[in-house]
Amino acid sequence: MDSQGFREAAISSIDEIISYYDNIGTREVVSTVEPGYLRKLLPSEAPDQGEPWADIQKDIEAKIMPGITHWQHPGFHAFFPCATSYPSILGELYSAALSGACFNWICSPAVTELETVVLDWLAKLLGLPECYLSPGPTRGGGVIQGSASEAVLTAMVAARDKYLRETIPAELDGHDREDTIAHKRSRMVALATSATHSSTKKAAIILGVRFITIPVRAADGYALTAPVLAAALADCRARKLEPFFLTATLGTTDTCAVDDFAGITSALADFSPAGSPGEVWVHVDAAYAGAALVCPEVQTATNIAQVASFHSFDMNMHKWLLTNFDASCLYVRDRSWFVQALTINQAVYNNTASDGGLVTDYREWQIPLGRRFRSLKIWFVLRSYGAEGLRAYIRRTTKLGEEFANWIRDRPDLFEILTGPSFALTVFRMVGKSGEGEASSSSSDEEERNALTRTLYETVNRSGKMWVTSTVLEGRFGIRMMTGVRTTEQEHVEAAFKALVDAAEEIHTS
Ligand code: PLP
Repeated sequence: MDSQGFREAAISSIDEIISYYDNIGTREVVSTVEPGYLRKLLPSEAPDQGEPWADIQKDIEAKIMPGITHWQHPGFHAFFPCATSYPSILGELYSAALSGACFNWICSPAVTELETVVLDWLAKLLGLPECYLSPGPTRGGGVIQGSASEAVLTAMVAARDKYLRETIPAELDGHDREDTIAHKRSRMVALATSATHSSTKKAAIILGVRFITIPVRAADGYALTAPVLAAALADCRARKLEPFFLTATLGTTDTCAVDDFAGITSALADFSPAGSPGEVWVHVDAAYAGAALVCPEVQTATNIAQVASFHSFDMNMHKWLLTNFDASCLYVRDRSWFVQALTINQAVYNNTASDGGLVTDYREWQIPLGRRFRSLKIWFVLRSYGAEGLRAYIRRTTKLGEEFANWIRDRPDLFEILTGPSFALTVFRMVGKSGEGEASSSSSDEEERNALTRTLYETVNRSGKMWVTSTVLEGRFGIRMMTGVRTTEQEHVEAAFKALVDAAEEIHTS
């Protein structure tokens, strides 16, 4: 494809993308193809001769679209959003054009420097304490990772390295040191709650450290509290285990619960005071709800200033902040923790700038070597929307969630809320045929509510007009209704609620 061919193909593609967005509401939200559908539509070999763009582009609608579930559809109320926006798409376009493996500063100084600047901008917008800023007092800073799962793994690697460095005497060397490390590793535990995202457990599996789940309950709003954490730490101590890592969550996946940051700090102060050798590293997973911190009222409500006593913080711009996958923004209070854990020198990567120690080489803050120019799309989004534009979007979609929850509350003959609304997410279920929403008392009541809710869930999802996902909270099957997608407006939430009411009434009368 030459320049003129690219110009024509790009214009035609952009036109098609605009038309896709302008008409997205007319499509079915979830793909209905059968497994293996695509192999039947494609040749078994790559073409021998290059094909004209027009033929290739035709196959997007004909062959690819049937297998697409439309995450940007206004009726997408499943999981959490996986955002995008036009400025973000433009960022990807430039990033692809300037493609490089920008692992060291010299590989493209702008790639590194823009990342540092926009992550500082974002940290300020989110109200993160100064210690997470690159010019801050503790030499902290931010780095873009591919996903929140990669971020927690990176934080855990650094935490493990820090813990071993601080708890093994420096004078121990050779085999003695290796043996002590091996013994300690077998006792080291990463902690998370039953509501924490599975990525913390996966990181522990990858790193070969123990993992303990701390159960959280409906009575505490599924959040981690000081007494529950203190009991878990005491239990570890009694078993001679060594907790070195805890994930605290701002917006859990099932219900958007927020762990009690002040309570965590006080429980840890009794166990391993902050700054003491071998202190427990606290990583804050704010993958989804962290986006709402652009609103000052959310910073206050979630007590975000408290994260100054923790060690790392991560939020995904690619969930609720108008930036497409992947843009997971990971902050650390002292960047040397990453650098010490993840730097391995290899002659081929040496260069004068790195040797001078005046530049950031982001390969030392992450697991892969190569990295894309991901900060461009964040820069474009922050500049195009501005702080006020982002706040308006978060507040609008949060309010849609609150309105939905109010409508659910107004129909106690059909529904009850299990959790929320919290960060544009409400979890609810159906009440029994005879129940007027009073708390269920018997296990047969519970079974009936679970069965009715499951039927409702399957019925509304079959319509193709909306998609909700589900969860199970202490044995109670609940429907998760999320209203955070950019294209979702009041009329779409009203339509979803009407579909739920119509289906629930029919289920009650059948
Ligand atoms: N943390 C939380 C709270 C999540 O809800 C999710 C996914 O929804 C993740 C982590 C994992 O995100 P990622 O796909 O970026 O690894």
